[in-house]
Amino acid sequence: MIRIILFGAPGAGKGTYSAELIKKYKVPQVSTGDMLRAEVKEGTELGKEAHEFMKHGQLVPDQMVIEMVHKRIQEPDAVNGFILDGFPRTVTQANSLDLMLHQMNIELSGVIKIEISQETILSRLTGRRVCTNCGATFNIATMKPKQEGICDKCGHNLIQRPDDQPTTILNRLAIYQKDTEPLIEFYKNKNLLRPVQCEGPYNEALARVFAALEKMAKV
Ligand code: ADP
Ligand code: ZN
Repeated sequence: MIRIILFGAPGAGKGTYSAELIKKYKVPQVSTGDMLRAEVKEGTELGKEAHEFMKHGQLVPDQMVIEMVHKRIQEPDAVNGFILDGFPRTVTQANSLDLMLHQMNIELSGVIKIEISQETILSRLTGRRVCTNCGATFNIATMKPKQEGICDKCGHNLIQRPDDQPTTILNRLAIYQKDTEPLIEFYKNKNLLRPVQCEGPYNEALARVFAALEKMAKV
């Protein structure tokens, strides 16, 4: 049973690591970024509202994501655990999460903090390409698709996310430092923070993430 938060700057690789972890632990990945992009794609009211914030690299209002997560973690597939990816991102969100978990009578196993240099983050975000169909991510520098511009998994086109444009990237990193980094202290104080060094070869970093998880997983 694992209930974890994958924590890290935009571009740290939360989505990539989550995809590996859910295979092993058979728990759902709860990615607020993916959920919001799905709403945008479907053109829902929530999606339209969220898009105005997302395209500028700003956070969407807390209440929007809090409600989404609240519903999502109560679905049947989440009873045996979940991986939160991209949530919480503000102290308000973290406090709401605490309250939800408390009401559900469950606890977090821990918070994995992906540690990576600013330089690596910048090159990852500028090189990131995503599939318009299945959401798989690639990187033109480090994780090239077999055929340029085409998804290995489903064959659809790859694009650069609008919020991966250079000026928007800097904006997102500044917001991360201001609004999200305070959560490091928040979870350190709860003795839940598990920093994992993720610089260097991907497979080695992934192995360290798995090792950190093994220590916190409860049977
Ligand atoms: P990344 O981790 O690469 O920045 P995400 O896919 O997690 O990207 O999120 C994309 C965008 O969705 C964010 O820039 C923000 O606008 C919005 N978003 C996602 N999660 C949250 C959240 N927990 N709180 C507020 N906004 C969020
Ligand atoms: Zn695809």
